[in-house]
Amino acid sequence: MVSFLKFDELNISPETLRAIEDMGFEEPTPIQQRSIPVILSGRDVTGQAQTGTGKTAAFAVPVIEKTDLKKCFVQSIILSPTRELTIQISEEFNRLLKYREDIRVLPVYGGQPIERQIHELKRGVHILIGTPGRVMDHLRRGTLSLSAVRIVVLDEADQMLEMGFREDMEDILSQTPDERQTILFSATMPKPILKISKSFQRNPEFVTISPGQLAVPTIEQKYLEVREKDKLEVLCRLIDINSSELSMIFCNTKRRVDEISGMLRSRGYFAEGLHGDMKQQQRDRVMGHFRNGSIDILIATDVAARGIDIDDIDIVYNYDVPQDVEYYVHRIGRTGRAGKSGAAYTFVSPKEINKLRMIKKLAKVNISRIAIPNAADVENSRIERSLDKVRSIIDEEDLGLFIPAVEKLMEEDYTLAEISAALLKIQLEGNTGKIQETDDFEAGDTGAEPGMVRFFVNIGKNKGIRPSDFVGAIAGEADVPGKEIGSIAILKDFSFVEVPETYAKRVFDIMNGNTIRGNEVSFEPARKERKQRSRY
Ligand code: ADP
Ligand code: MG
Repeated sequence: MVSFLKFDELNISPETLRAIEDMGFEEPTPIQQRSIPVILSGRDVTGQAQTGTGKTAAFAVPVIEKTDLKKCFVQSIILSPTRELTIQISEEFNRLLKYREDIRVLPVYGGQPIERQIHELKRGVHILIGTPGRVMDHLRRGTLSLSAVRIVVLDEADQMLEMGFREDMEDILSQTPDERQTILFSATMPKPILKISKSFQRNPEFVTISPGQLAVPTIEQKYLEVREKDKLEVLCRLIDINSSELSMIFCNTKRRVDEISGMLRSRGYFAEGLHGDMKQQQRDRVMGHFRNGSIDILIATDVAARGIDIDDIDIVYNYDVPQDVEYYVHRIGRTGRAGKSGAAYTFVSPKEINKLRMIKKLAKVNISRIAIPNAADVENSRIERSLDKVRSIIDEEDLGLFIPAVEKLMEEDYTLAEISAALLKIQLEGNTGKIQETDDFEAGDTGAEPGMVRFFVNIGKNKGIRPSDFVGAIAGEADVPGKEIGSIAILKDFSFVEVPETYAKRVFDIMNGNTIRGNEVSFEPARKERKQRSRY
C-alpha cells in the first residue's frame, strides 16, 4: 500500500480543501490518493477502480486546480456515457467549486434544449462535461471549439465503449491539441480501452486499485455448484458437518434472510436473521442471542452485517453469490480473525457462476470447487468429532477407573478395536430403548425433585426445542396432565424433563422412540452420574 496521504497533503488549494471539508470527506479514497498528485503533475493517468470508489473527485479536484481563470474558453472536457452520469459529475464539480464561483462548468447532454447550451458556451465555459453524442453535435454545429483544450477526461470509459461511443470518443480526442493531458477512468480495463489508452495517451501512469488490495483474509474459500432448490439441503449438511462452530449465512435480500432463518429453525437449527427492516431493539435481541450462545447461526444481509462488530465467526456461508466483490471480501472477513482458522463456502447456482468468476478475478482469490457433501460425509464428520473427543480425554483426563474395565473385556477375548468400536457406536447412536430393560423408574438418585423421575432426552437447543414442545408432546401423547410435568431443562444437545413417578413408565413407553417436532427422540431415565455439560 502507498503511504497514507490526507487531502491537505495533496497540494490542493485552500478553497477546494474547504469545499471538500464541507462535503464531509474525511480522507481521500485510494484512487484519489494515487491519482490526484499524478494528474496535478501533468502526467496522463489511466485509473481503474470499482464503482463507488470516488473516481469523480479523483479527476475533478486536479481539473479544478489546473484551471486557468484568465482564459475563458473550454480548457477541460470530461466525456461521460450518460445524461445521468453527466449530471452527477457536474454536481460533484459544483460542490467542489463552492468557494470558486469564478470557475464555470457546463454539462451538455441530449434531451436538453441545445440553444441554452449554445448560449452558455458563448458566455464562456472553463470545464465542459458531456456525453460524446451531444459534444459531437456541438462540434458539427461549430458551437464548440476544442482547440484550446488542455485536459481530456474519459470517465467510465468502459461504459462509453459498451454504448458504442468509440468513434465519437476518437473524433473528439483528435480535435484536441496533441499536447493535451489525457485522463482515463474506468471500472474495468478490457482490451479496447487499453487500445484507446495506447493511441491517445502519452506514457500514462496506470493507477489500479483492485479490491485485492482490500485485506482478503487467508482462509479456506470453497464454492459448491448447487441448484437453487437444493441450497437449503446442502446448507444443512454443511452445518451438520461443521457442527459446534459459529456461523454466519449471508443472503442478498431481506426476504431471503427471513425465508432461510424460518426454514432452518423449522429444521431444528438454532438460527436467527438480521436485516435492515428490523427495529434496533429486535436486532439487539438477535445479537444478544448470538453472543450468549443461545443461537449459533446468524443470517444476515450485507447491509445489516455492516452495523455489527462480530468478527470471530468460524464459518461464513454465502447462500447467494454477493452482488459486489467488496461484499464478498467483507463477508469472508468475518472469519479467520486473530489467527483463528476460518472457512467460507459460497453456493453458486448455474445462473451465478459468472458472478463468481468475476469475484475470483477481481479479488484475486482462489476459491476452489468442492463436491456437495453426502450423508456419509455427514456421518464421517460425526465420527471424526467423537474421535477428537476420545483423543482429548486420553490426553487430559484420568481414565484410571475405566482401564481395568476394558482390560476385563480383553481377557474375555475381545480385541481392543472391537471394544472401542462398540463404545463408539453407543456414543454415536445414543442409548436407545434397547439398552433400557428395566421397568422401574426410580426417583431420587438423579437430582430430580422428590416423587419425580428425570428423563434424559437426546434433543435440545440444537433441534430448536422449547419447553412447550415437551409439554405438548408428553401431555398430548402420553396423556400426562400438562401441569404435572415438572422441571424442564433444555441444553445444547439434550434435555432433562421431569415427570411424576406414577407416569414415568407410560412416558417412557410412549415417548421413547417417538418424535418431537420431527425429531426421533430417546427418553431415558437420567442416571446420577450423568453430568450436565454445556458447550459454553
Ligand atoms: P465512482 O465514480 O468511482 O463510481 P463516485 O465518484 O461517483 O465513484 O463516488 C461515489 C460516492 O462517494 C459519491 O457520493 C462521492 O461523493 C463519495 N466520495 C468520493 N470521494 C469520497 C471521499 N474521499 N470520502 C467520502 N466519500 C467520497
Ligand atoms: Mg464514476
